[in-house]
Amino acid sequence: MIDKLGRDITYLRISLTDKCNLRCRYCMPEEGVCRRAHHEMMNEDEVVTAVEVAASLGIHKIRLTGGEPLVKKNIVSICRRVAAVEGIREVCLTTNGLLLPKKAKELREAGVKRLNLSLDTLNPEKYAYITRIGRMEDFKAGLEAALEAGFEKVKINAVLIGGFNDDEIEGLANLTMQYPVDMRFIELMPIRSHDEFGESAYVPCSRVLEKLPQVLPVPPDGGVAKLYRLPGAKGNIGLISPINAHFCGECNRIRLTADGKLKPCLHGAEEFSIKGLDYDGMKAVFEQAIWNKPAWHGDLDAVNRSKAGRNMNEIGG
Ligand code: SAM
Ligand code: SF4
Repeated sequence: MIDKLGRDITYLRISLTDKCNLRCRYCMPEEGVCRRAHHEMMNEDEVVTAVEVAASLGIHKIRLTGGEPLVKKNIVSICRRVAAVEGIREVCLTTNGLLLPKKAKELREAGVKRLNLSLDTLNPEKYAYITRIGRMEDFKAGLEAALEAGFEKVKINAVLIGGFNDDEIEGLANLTMQYPVDMRFIELMPIRSHDEFGESAYVPCSRVLEKLPQVLPVPPDGGVAKLYRLPGAKGNIGLISPINAHFCGECNRIRLTADGKLKPCLHGAEEFSIKGLDYDGMKAVFEQAIWNKPAWHGDLDAVNRSKAGRNMNEIGG
């Protein structure tokens, strides 16, 4: 469906849960999430209905995210049912990777085509610090399971944080020499939980190019990342700059939270509830949310904070 500014909305990101087995400092509070009643959250049938509605409006790409989507017991069934919806061409999943040794094969068989994993550092102590509770060896086992399971594409996402990992740009980029993965750097977004990071944490993605003068540009693949490649690498390097080179004018996505709110913009306060509605009810709300997608997210920096009103684990990134 085309929004009122002429953008064709073809991509729905669904946060399946707010819960997570990590506590990344820029994403969610140390104490985790408030317990919510079961009936307040979208159930599996409602998620599938929402995808059917989305497909009827021209959405053909779905990303399942969270919180951590793999902590959901019914994740494989959700993936299978979403992948089977007529009109859905691609089901992708974003995960911290820790549960992939148990789930990667089943997810692939259920129809997940692409996987994004999150990794901000190669240093086990820094990994434990930034995730508050994570172990690097568990991430590595997850990455290996992802590579073995035969996904069409595996990407690794790092949030670029000045004073934390801007000294690891070369090391992280070198993962593309070692593995058939894309390595993407994402600018830190000023959303609720990351208050401990000061102004100097906001490093523009252009810093990556300063550190890697040898990279060659690669034609865009239709996504939001600007692509480059190290000579001889097995995968691309992607730069995602929501702060310093926002892509709102070409934004083709809307988001659905685990409690059933459609968010036309990641950083906007506006939400449209579809929880508890049937197919026709959801369709009317989807149409309203897409039509009213804002032109852009406004200025974002250490002072001008996101107006999302939620932590990132409650939106899905
Ligand atoms: N748990 C999964 C994971 O970590 O990949 C999926 C959910 S997580 C919210 C999705 C993505 O959002 C991750 O790559 C994470 O690094 C990113 N993210 C979280 N908070 C962010 C922030 N403040 N700025 C930029 N990216 C952020
Ligand atoms: Fe969990 Fe992902 Fe947020 Fe880290 S970034 S706390 S893994 S939801």
